[in-house]
Amino acid sequence: MLVGILILLLFASTPQIAPPIQGLQLSSVRDMFNEIHNGHPHEAIDMMEPRGTPVHAVVPGTIRKLFLSKPGGITVYEVDEKEVYCYYYAHLDRYAEGLHEQMRVAQGDVIGFVGSTGNANANAPHLHFAIFELGPAKEWWKGKAINPYQALVEAIQRTK
Ligand SMILES: [Zn+2]
Repeated sequence: MLVGILILLLFASTPQIAPPIQGLQLSSVRDMFNEIHNGHPHEAIDMMEPRGTPVHAVVPGTIRKLFLSKPGGITVYEVDEKEVYCYYYAHLDRYAEGLHEQMRVAQGDVIGFVGSTGNANANAPHLHFAIFELGPAKEWWKGKAINPYQALVEAIQRTK
């Protein structure tokens, strides 16, 4: 019983994902979850990539929301199949053609392209990537941010 709970906690703290950027290197990710950006806790990891770099779904799941936000610009909220986590991809240049809400995606499917929409510096396109743990109501806009750093590191290591 206790072991089961511990295993569950382990899973809950680092969901298993694939890298959102093909060929992502360890040197491209840094634990910036607790940094203050624009006066707010960042609660995400930024990956600097050239504009137009494809962004891949990190898990199989469903596109829950395509949202245009002032800070995040063109964004995608993807929920996993068990609706435990919501994956947030922001500052996209554009969506993949045909992407729509409630669409099922496989892990690795291209969902959009790196850009600098929202409050990103136009000269520093990047993917802003966050993971939210969904509450019982599964509302995409209300998750609790968890640190994606370890999950990203493990995802990169699995590709080696
Ligand atoms: Zn960011």
